[in-house]
Amino acid sequence: MLAVNRRALLMGAAAVSAYATVRSNYVFAQGADGPIKQAPLPYAPDKNEPHIDAMTMEIHYGKHHAAYVANLNNAAKNNAEAFKMPIQEMLAKLANLPEGIRTLVRNNGGGHANHTMFWQIMGGSGGEPSGAIADAIKASFGDFSKLQEQFNARGAGQFGSGWVFVTSDKDGKLGLEARPNQDSPLMFGKMPLFGNDVWEHAYYLKYQNRRADYLKAWWNVVNWDIINQRYADAKAGKFTV
Ligand code: MN
Repeated sequence: MLAVNRRALLMGAAAVSAYATVRSNYVFAQGADGPIKQAPLPYAPDKNEPHIDAMTMEIHYGKHHAAYVANLNNAAKNNAEAFKMPIQEMLAKLANLPEGIRTLVRNNGGGHANHTMFWQIMGGSGGEPSGAIADAIKASFGDFSKLQEQFNARGAGQFGSGWVFVTSDKDGKLGLEARPNQDSPLMFGKMPLFGNDVWEHAYYLKYQNRRADYLKAWWNVVNWDIINQRYADAKAGKFTV
């Protein structure tokens, strides 16, 4: 019994120390040198508590997303021409990229685009959608609770790592899709209005294996104002990532 307690204590100390390191580093994550910039987190890391804990946010933004950005900037050193394109264009034209960086851009460029979207569309207070997106959801999915049900089922059913997205086409027609790894709807001609990250790194500290609980709780932090803005941009041809 004593050994178990001692072990738990030591593990606790290690976690606290790892957390302190993350806290001191995450502020500098967007400083990576190169053409790809990581936008600052648009709110404090504890903004989505209790549904998404601050430590997960800090590691996710400051380590996982930052690594995708660093990998892109490293690749840009020898591929300056390709990296003149904005990331959404690189993803839409993967097949035209030099073969040597195609997979790297698919994984890390997809990761950068997906996470840039993800930080933006959280930090809100969830609830029922409003504005144009509410009408579009009603038209495409029947009602909001039906969308949530289908979205959560697709997220839970994604085997291994990936994402679930609500997309728009140029005409504002919505779609629902799950994608493996860091694949982005931008690779398939669709604009991701919002989506949830179902990689274990997005939820494991708080939810462990309970992905379904995470998917359900995540709706409480969705920011419908930002999603409406993204939807307006999609229809106006001004969508980026
Ligand atoms: Mn992630």
